[in-house]
Amino acid sequence: MTKHAKKLKVHCPAMKLRGGLKAPKTTLRVSYHEHTVGLPWADIRPLIASAFRHVQREAFRTLRENFLLRSHTWTPDLILAKGQNGYWWGRATGSISRVFIGKLHTEPRQSVYPRYKDMPIMWHRDWQEQLLGLVAHELWHRWQPGHGKPAEIMCELVESDAIDTYRKEQGYTFTPPAKPEPVELVSNRFVAMSDRACESINS
Ligand SMILES: [Zn+2]
Repeated sequence: MTKHAKKLKVHCPAMKLRGGLKAPKTTLRVSYHEHTVGLPWADIRPLIASAFRHVQREAFRTLRENFLLRSHTWTPDLILAKGQNGYWWGRATGSISRVFIGKLHTEPRQSVYPRYKDMPIMWHRDWQEQLLGLVAHELWHRWQPGHGKPAEIMCELVESDAIDTYRKEQGYTFTPPAKPEPVELVSNRFVAMSDRACESINS
């Protein structure tokens, strides 16, 4: 069995948009490490394609003022590999987005961008949504000018919208699990340290 990653292509046609702007015809090149990820491409491709369609169409339509008019054709690279210890993470450098697939969870999970405070909180129903969302996030970095928190917030919003698009395409809705009731403090009295404890500290 070959250890080389599969090279796959996902195409997205040019889109005419209002205001004379045109989303370019684009191709996504995916390097996919099936032997480490442990999932067949047939399971992965629809998720990648949905994220890519969203970035190229809806996200571009909504956030087009942020689009970097670099070229008429855009060929991003996406590398999908297995993360270590079940952790999910992604990184975008230049034209290459890397997404590391973590634990394939089937229970809903809450997600928040870890590096900054006050980032939007979102839910992933399962690993499929997490993968799709992370791909959309990392791909949008290619189109998002700037860096740091403002850029990451835009990428997080694109991620959230891409997941909504996928849910619509698949014809399901997702409601996050109910939060447990916050525990009310019955008493807020200060409990004084006993004299004996004070004695032992002073001794
Ligand atoms: Zn990011």
